[in-house]
Amino acid sequence: MNCWICGDNADSGEHIIKQSDLKQYIGNVSQSFPFRWYSNNNKKDVGSFKSSHLHFKTKICSKCNNERTQPSDRAWERLSNHIRSNLSDIVATRKLDLTSLAGTKEINQFVVDVQIYFTKLLGCMIHDASVPINTSSFSSSIMSSKPHDSLYLMFALTDEIGGGCKSVYVSDLRGYGFKDKVDYLVWQYSVGELVVFVIYDPRKLERRIIRNSLHPRNHNGKIRFLMKNNKQRQGGTTSSPLL
Ligand SMILES: [Zn+2]
Repeated sequence: MNCWICGDNADSGEHIIKQSDLKQYIGNVSQSFPFRWYSNNNKKDVGSFKSSHLHFKTKICSKCNNERTQPSDRAWERLSNHIRSNLSDIVATRKLDLTSLAGTKEINQFVVDVQIYFTKLLGCMIHDASVPINTSSFSSSIMSSKPHDSLYLMFALTDEIGGGCKSVYVSDLRGYGFKDKVDYLVWQYSVGELVVFVIYDPRKLERRIIRNSLHPRNHNGKIRFLMKNNKQRQGGTTSSPLL
């Protein structure tokens, strides 16, 4: 298997949910104290965050995984930790100013880095599910550290699901298109209350979603959060599995 990003030999597994998110949210796990992971209608008790169950089937190369995408991994780690640590303030204002998170970087490059993190995940997901989308635009964005024109991030906060039980969840890919083409794709990445919808919309079909989402070419240095209330949708198909 070759790395879909750069073409080199693919020998490195990418986490479906970032390991730092799992560690910070779930805490320590071990073989004698595993957590339960639900995926594709299966459940597994997982005793290590390095478990193959927590990785995409599609591998990438070590350079892409460790070196090339390190700034984007760091950017997401910082943003995600910050959101979890400042949850009540963010719930109150439904906004987050990214200025202090960008550090020494231009704020726009910080937004690009966050987008690249999810570009990498969505690319792996597309290959895992054999969705007929050419991921060369995803590769070029990652290789050049430049924005991807058609990938948007919508942030939401939700009540913790399951009466206080910890919940980590990724959805299947959902989308639509005509014949063998996919025109729209959405994938959900959730850790506790924080939900990120990763949206691929090359034809700009969902204007309202685009307006409210984060994109490197159209942002004001702030994230706007949707609020989702799961109490109103108990039993619905969007409720997340429990850990
Ligand atoms: Zn590579």
